[in-house]
Amino acid sequence: MIGLGRFYITTAIDYVNAKPHIGHAYEKVIADIIARWQRLRGEKVFYLTGTDENAEKNSQAAKEAGVPVREFVDKNVEFFKNLCKTLNISNDYFIRTTEERHIKISQDIFRKVLEKGDIYKDFYEGLYCEGCEGYLTEKDLVGGKCPEHQKPPKPLREEAYFFRLSKYNDHIVKLLESPNFVIPKEKRNEMLSRIKSDDLKDLCISRKNLYWGIDVPDDKNHKIYVWFDALINYVSAIGYPDGGKFKEFWPADIHLIGKGINWFHSVIWPAMLISAGIKPPKTILVHGYLTVNGQKISKSLGVQIDPLEIVKKYGADPVRYLFAREIPMGEDGDFSEQALKDRLNNELANDLGNLLSRVVKMIEKSFSGNVPQGKVDEKLSKQLRVESIEKYMDKFELHNALAEIWNFIRACNRYINEKEPWKLEGKELQDILYTLADSLRIISILISPFIPATSEKINEQLGLKPGILKDVKFGLLKGGKIKRGEHLFNKVK
Ligand SMILES: [Zn+2]
Repeated sequence: MIGLGRFYITTAIDYVNAKPHIGHAYEKVIADIIARWQRLRGEKVFYLTGTDENAEKNSQAAKEAGVPVREFVDKNVEFFKNLCKTLNISNDYFIRTTEERHIKISQDIFRKVLEKGDIYKDFYEGLYCEGCEGYLTEKDLVGGKCPEHQKPPKPLREEAYFFRLSKYNDHIVKLLESPNFVIPKEKRNEMLSRIKSDDLKDLCISRKNLYWGIDVPDDKNHKIYVWFDALINYVSAIGYPDGGKFKEFWPADIHLIGKGINWFHSVIWPAMLISAGIKPPKTILVHGYLTVNGQKISKSLGVQIDPLEIVKKYGADPVRYLFAREIPMGEDGDFSEQALKDRLNNELANDLGNLLSRVVKMIEKSFSGNVPQGKVDEKLSKQLRVESIEKYMDKFELHNALAEIWNFIRACNRYINEKEPWKLEGKELQDILYTLADSLRIISILISPFIPATSEKINEQLGLKPGILKDVKFGLLKGGKIKRGEHLFNKVK
């Protein structure tokens, strides 16, 4: 992917009916890595995340907690903001869908589509699952129950507003068939085969008699149901239609989402946008689900990990590293503390941490902490394959990019073992330590999107300023004063 100077990336927005789980942390971290990588390439980036606060789910959870909804969402949103801070997420804005601006823009777009004739009033009959906040078909049920929520849905008939999704069938098929609209391809194919087996139906987009939510414009008996509210956040947050940010950053480069809401993003959302005269996003990037120790995340079964607790215990960078290294984009993956410990001990502490402390100690000992000038050893520098790393990042294969970076880190450690610099002196020693310090400078740049705090620590110890991708060239290091610090990572048992 070639940068055009502007890069807009979003995550899904989260319900605030409960505290964040590890899946929320995963999505925010992956988006953050992509955002930071684009900044490293010199792009101007806007990274958006936030919360979906108008959903009936939140209102139900507030009722159960015996707290007014407004108070409930105001309190719970803090957990999500805190999660961003704890994970060192570099979002440029955090949208709450209870913001006045969002409410107004949702209604404006609803009205625009209504006036165009793509929204109409009719009756809806169906089986409604409160957990899903949606209607299910008989086909969806397992033993008469919603398979997701293990409850039988309620039959419901009500007056409602509909969006003419059917009108956009061919348009959406064409969009899905265009390259890179949905990544990975398998997730694109799932959507295509669903449309091709059963043409798009019009979509019910309002609910009656709800207390919480955004009013349908000029009709207080109806609330806007999820699509024309939640999805609108991607354009309301940047000030649609006249805001400078909207003009600068739309269409979004990446909507990063979980596979469960792929349909909403790659079918319903672009149809809404086309109807409203807004360009569709460029790419829907779909990630898989996380299991915890091999089990599906489930609050009721007690299968979950509190991301705030886990970061408190191990630090943000090891968690970020694990997410990117362990789980290939688009695939389901497992989060286990054992895997986290293994990667922390072996890859972060042994490979990277030791490399830094060995080099820093040798420069201290032989050159009083002044990084010597020297000539880069090409046998080592050739082992860094920057183009491969860039290619992997362009394809969102973050795990492969990290593997490639780690190949080089290990090559640096082997280089020390082979050269045995402690037995050398003079020009030869200068060249070797210069090569290693310069390599660490480059490593620090390359790892900065993944483990930004660690990159900063390396820079501090080597007396470096943060670099960008353009600086990933050997021989650019000019002197510097070493400031030995603590170990980058402490091993855990
Ligand atoms: Zn359900």
